[in-house]
Amino acid sequence: MTKDIATPMRTKEILERHGFSFKKSLGQNFLIDPNVLENIVANAHLTKTMGVIEIGPGIGALTEHLARAAKKVVAFEIDGRLLPVLEDTMSPYDNVTVIHQDILETNLMEAMEEHFAGFDEVVVVANLPYYVTTPIIMKFLLEKIPISGMVIMMQKEVADRITANPGTKAYGSLSIAIQYYMDAEVAMIVPKTVFMPQPNVDSAVLRLTRKESPPAEVIDEDFLFRISRGSFVQRRKTILNNLQSSLLDGKQKKDLIVEALERANIDPGRRGETLSVAEFAKLSNELYEDFNLESNKR
Ligand code: SAM
Repeated sequence: MTKDIATPMRTKEILERHGFSFKKSLGQNFLIDPNVLENIVANAHLTKTMGVIEIGPGIGALTEHLARAAKKVVAFEIDGRLLPVLEDTMSPYDNVTVIHQDILETNLMEAMEEHFAGFDEVVVVANLPYYVTTPIIMKFLLEKIPISGMVIMMQKEVADRITANPGTKAYGSLSIAIQYYMDAEVAMIVPKTVFMPQPNVDSAVLRLTRKESPPAEVIDEDFLFRISRGSFVQRRKTILNNLQSSLLDGKQKKDLIVEALERANIDPGRRGETLSVAEFAKLSNELYEDFNLESNKR
């Protein structure tokens, strides 16, 4: 087995050899601790029949661990300067494909068909740039990419929001959007010291596992997420107040909102943060007919 990339010495040596300098704007904080990498990979439960999508391989610290544990790794990297570096560091592995692409601009369904046809299981494993964590996760979920799970290093504060339960301060529209599709749990809290350069905030590894079925059937998932966002605009206000402000003509249509809340068995005086995902789902179905207007789609 080759020497791990993720040690301070080897990382420095690779960066110097290729004259690479970090770009803060791309969230480049590379992992330099092999124990953390092993823990990430253990949480992905990889086998030699599985495929992995990695986002942002950097110089390949995580990629090489994935290559050792899975059948095939396809890694999307936005920074073209890292391609020659990866060509060098990934040369011992014949099961890694690096694609120079912004993951947010990638046709993921096409990529799945091209690279993982015939695979039983594909998972996403990544140490994500913090500024795009949420849009990247939501892209996989909204586009219904057939992955069985995700193991993702992210800012701890975002992991806390994603895994939050109703009635807590961290619970909000992000918790609802992700928990609608996935079971979410924090697998590990990670100190700043395992990165080069060190970020300003603590990190966490989040494990997302696809739910067998959603917590409730909804007519329109986008509409559910709009209702939940609208219910948290002013956290201290009641759900009725927030919906009146966020839905088009909500003030004039107060009666319709109250009736929908009643049909969903939700007291109009409750705050959004007390509603479970299933209650939001029910409520969005009850509001759908009267409020699913183009102009509410924001
Ligand atoms: N995986 C490496 C590691 O753990 O050491 C690097 C992780 S670093 C936090 C994030 C990586 O994502 C960087 O290599 C960065 O260039 C890349 N990146 C940033 N935005 C991206 C995007 N939209 N699509 C693909 N890669 C991106």
